[in-house]
Amino acid sequence: MDKRLLEILVCPSCKGQLHYDRTRQELLCRPDRLAYPIRDGIPVMLEDEARRISDEEADRVKPVSP
Ligand SMILES: [Zn+2]
Repeated sequence: MDKRLLEILVCPSCKGQLHYDRTRQELLCRPDRLAYPIRDGIPVMLEDEARRISDEEADRVKPVSP
């Protein structure tokens, strides 16, 4: 996924920074405990489409490096 695209994307719920999970192809929001799917390289920024993640999963993600 394009890193520049990732930098401008924010969580639609809290407007916070997202974390890219390369393995699962998801964008994670830690405060909301949500994972937004990336389908065919296109992030689906809809809360209805997002997956709930556990605290452990949220803690595992690392901030995106600039
Ligand atoms: Zn959020």
